[in-house]
Amino acid sequence: MASPTITIPPYTQRQEFPSIMTEITAPETAAAQPSLPPLHVLLAAPRGFCAGVDRAIQIVEVALQKFGAPVYVRHEIVHNRFVVESLEAKGAVFVKELDEVPDDRPVVFSAHGVPKAVPAEAQRRNMIYVDATCPLVSKVHREAERHHESGRAIVLIGHAGHPEVVGTIGQLPDGAVHLVETVADVASLTVADPENLAFATQTTLSVDDTGAIVDALRDRFPSIAGPKREDICYATTNRQAAVKAIAPKADALLVLGAPNSSNSVRLVEVARGHGCTRAMLVQRAAQIDWPRLEKIRTLGITAGASAPEVLVDEVLTALRERFTVTVEEVVTATENVIFKLPRVLAAE
Ligand code: SF4
Repeated sequence: MASPTITIPPYTQRQEFPSIMTEITAPETAAAQPSLPPLHVLLAAPRGFCAGVDRAIQIVEVALQKFGAPVYVRHEIVHNRFVVESLEAKGAVFVKELDEVPDDRPVVFSAHGVPKAVPAEAQRRNMIYVDATCPLVSKVHREAERHHESGRAIVLIGHAGHPEVVGTIGQLPDGAVHLVETVADVASLTVADPENLAFATQTTLSVDDTGAIVDALRDRFPSIAGPKREDICYATTNRQAAVKAIAPKADALLVLGAPNSSNSVRLVEVARGHGCTRAMLVQRAAQIDWPRLEKIRTLGITAGASAPEVLVDEVLTALRERFTVTVEEVVTATENVIFKLPRVLAAE
């Protein structure tokens, strides 16, 4: 089959989510609004959408083009209300479980991945389904399967109940995966054969915390197999590194993201752990706790991997109503990762 044709450019290139790069290179001068206090904004880069989120959103949009509305989506396609509501306005219907989807309508599975039982049930019902699981999450699924086939039990480092963790555990039979969340969990872990283990990790964890858990696993089970370091994805790693660069210089730091977005919550923790105790998670500008920003001179801003750039723009606009703002983008890495769409969405 021919390679899928992507008809919609990545969100970062679309008019509805405009770039603010022009404004960054031409900051406002204090003379423009002399009565407002000065505020220097350190804008982390990379921030916001990753390739897996961009692909998942495109999948829903192309599915709407190809099949017409409604297209059903099992779970939030990515953890961001703004994105979900934008897609709802275009004809997507978000549901919790597959049994809420009629047999004759297409369904998309979210970027976080799903247990194997979910596509199996869709197949049994002869449904059209499109799997928007991020390829980097699918890679972890395949690694876990490979270790299981070679007779190893899997220790998964992740957060209980997170959809990605539910999806990864659901790749293997019941009891094949042991979940650990902390170093203390490693100490109390009971396994049938300590010589026959492998580990895998959720992709959106704290790089530092996960390193400590991996070290504890390797100390206790020296023959444990696994990735060289962990399975944390490039986007999570890069966004945390960018926050580490700006947090020590910032009086306060805003992370644009949802409370159920693992990578966004981790960014707040990373900022607090690297010198910025006043780090706050906000979904929209309307949620900013303005009294906490009084008298600050330097504000860090970043966005989780599921938060569109338009929300950063919105925050900058709100800041400019209260401060004379200068913006400095602090770039710690550049990203050019793009994932292809699934073949089922290829142009005919
Ligand atoms: Fe994929 Fe990482 Fe983005 Fe998750 S955060 S969708 S694993 S690139």
